[in-house]
Amino acid sequence: MSKPRFFTGIQPTGLLTLGHYCGVIRHLVSLQDNYEVIIMIADLHAFTVPNSVLNYHERCYEMAALLYACGLKEENCKIFCQSQVPEHLFLAHLLSPFVTVGSLSHMIQYKEKKKNEETGNLALLSYPVLMAADILLYDADLVIVGQDQRQHLELTSIIARKFNNFFGQNLLKIPQFIIPDQGAKIMDLRNPTKKMSKSETDHISLLDTPEIIKKKVARAVTDSENKIYYHPRKKPGLSNLLTIYALLNGWEISEAEKNLTGLGYDQFKSKLTQLVSDKLVAIQKNYDFWRTMIEVLLEKNTNYLRTQAGNKVNLLKKELKIFSLPRKNGKEQNN
Ligand code: ATP
Ligand code: MG
Repeated sequence: MSKPRFFTGIQPTGLLTLGHYCGVIRHLVSLQDNYEVIIMIADLHAFTVPNSVLNYHERCYEMAALLYACGLKEENCKIFCQSQVPEHLFLAHLLSPFVTVGSLSHMIQYKEKKKNEETGNLALLSYPVLMAADILLYDADLVIVGQDQRQHLELTSIIARKFNNFFGQNLLKIPQFIIPDQGAKIMDLRNPTKKMSKSETDHISLLDTPEIIKKKVARAVTDSENKIYYHPRKKPGLSNLLTIYALLNGWEISEAEKNLTGLGYDQFKSKLTQLVSDKLVAIQKNYDFWRTMIEVLLEKNTNYLRTQAGNKVNLLKKELKIFSLPRKNGKEQNN
């Protein structure tokens, strides 16, 4: 019997961060033996503002190699690049009549990213529709994302339900969505009220050296109490560091608090620096190996996913009896 499918996506807008590792990647590493994991590098999503400088290809290769270097296995986990499977755009178009412009313009991420009228373009607005297509194209059973994507996931379910109701068939599978309890939102070290993000300058990248990690942890914002306990509202900076410390050790927050009893912030920061460095150096050691393999591997993965996506689109065309041309012999032609 085939394994259930797990789907997630990451944009190639920068190098992966400790936020991605804590929020998403570590879950994939631990779940991968029981699922078929599909990871889409969302290069189309990264093109929401006109950009002619970014080399998406190189970024995709780097990101895929880094993901495998985190411990994902080739046999369990298919990483591919979104732009190489054109069916994503086709399905997004099929879904578009089921979404109103009003609901899209109320998405939090749209409002945040649209810093002014000029950046509020159509690609940014329709981003959640393409995201819904990404997920629904592969009949995923489970989807894992960070907290910031919750609203887009809710919209995906709404769109799929409307589509299925309209056509009177369960053509689109609505997956179970997982937003991890802990680590779903690792905050910026300098500004702990903001999510750590790879497109912002101040984050820990998975390729940062121990010296850089040391500097970044040393200047992480805390508070003046010098007492270690978890309280995200009163102590957002310290609580964020504590979360990272607990997750990388595989502990509950309470265990981390116990482990740090009696220590001051400086001592805690040096323990955290050591822990993060050890983890990232181990990943970096694998990275060069995967980088040499990645082009061939991505091509193989892409072929597989093109077949899956092509089958889904052909099925939709056939069931809906739209967008398929009749052949002379009376049979329908789907592509
Ligand atoms: P960008 O700033 O370009 O949007 P990003 O850092 O937010 O980049 P995405 O590619 O948008 O990264 O997100 C990939 C996945 O990682 C999503 O599921 C997102 O929810 C999750 N994620 C991103 N940042 C964090 C974070 N700081 N903590 C936990 N999960 C995160
Ligand atoms: Mg993001």
